[in-house]
Amino acid sequence: MTFAAKGFNVKYGNNIAAPALDAIGDYVLVTQPEPWEFLKGKVSNKPLQIIQSGDLSPEHLDHLAETSPAVTIVGLGGGSAMDTAKWIHWRRSLPLIQLPSLPSVDACFTRMSALRDRGGVRYEGDAIPDMVNVDFELFRAAPRAMVTSGIGDVLSCHTAWFDWKYAFENGQDEFGWSADKPEISHTYLNELYECADGIKNLTDDGLRRLMELHRDIGWRCHDISHARFEEGSEHFFAYTFEEVTGRTILHGELVSMGVQIMSHFQGNNPERVREIIARAGTRHKLADLGISMAEVMETMRRLPTFTVEQKHWYSYARTLDPAKYDEQEIKNLLDW
Ligand SMILES: [Zn+2]
Repeated sequence: MTFAAKGFNVKYGNNIAAPALDAIGDYVLVTQPEPWEFLKGKVSNKPLQIIQSGDLSPEHLDHLAETSPAVTIVGLGGGSAMDTAKWIHWRRSLPLIQLPSLPSVDACFTRMSALRDRGGVRYEGDAIPDMVNVDFELFRAAPRAMVTSGIGDVLSCHTAWFDWKYAFENGQDEFGWSADKPEISHTYLNELYECADGIKNLTDDGLRRLMELHRDIGWRCHDISHARFEEGSEHFFAYTFEEVTGRTILHGELVSMGVQIMSHFQGNNPERVREIIARAGTRHKLADLGISMAEVMETMRRLPTFTVEQKHWYSYARTLDPAKYDEQEIKNLLDW
């Protein structure tokens, strides 16, 4: 059976971003330097105003919303451009058009914006774009690793689903897991496996199918009012890495690393995860990611306590015993 996504209105194609902008009348553009640099020579209908995204504090976003002209809001770029455009649209009830320039996250298909508030991340808002225009040429203009990292937030369903079931079995589930639920993680992972080669080779088909997975995941988060099925131990690993090292790397690569390590400890088909990463050409070697083994071990040692302190959902991560870690075993999971 072919995978059929639900979610926002979407259009796929090559060189569709510039014609979309030429057809919408007055607009404010929320963007980042690279995608606009790539596109601006092709656009005749220039924006009334250009907003550089990056600062996702609620104060800043509210200021942007209050001072924006009452015209169509366009997001062009990665997650921060999508989230900023969503906020202005939602606060002011203005039309919204999204032009993602990367398949790295599902921000163009989710309703809430990820605000950076007092050192943490908070989700708020309720954005519904008139159209999400996915222009494959924008993706191909981006560094390849930013595209192949896009599998991370789909791969995460593999470990997150296990965690949700694990929480249920341990009497710690707040979200109504039930044994008769169709295992949506299998559907997602099978589709990801099927299209991984196309992602690696940046084909129209591979990129469209990756975005359809993001679209369905975004729809499901809203439909069931939580993200338990796509956020578990692997994301908690990523948050712990950021806390321990005080820095981050590409979200999808960090989450993919978390999926590799956590699926191993869960005894949850880590071979399948590795196979998909290999097919998609996603970077995984520590040297390629600019991460040291010491940082990985420090993250693993901190993970069980951090996830309790942060009140993350109950997951396999909090039951790990750092005294039993074998450094070589963990290194082998990543350096292949
Ligand atoms: Zn994520």
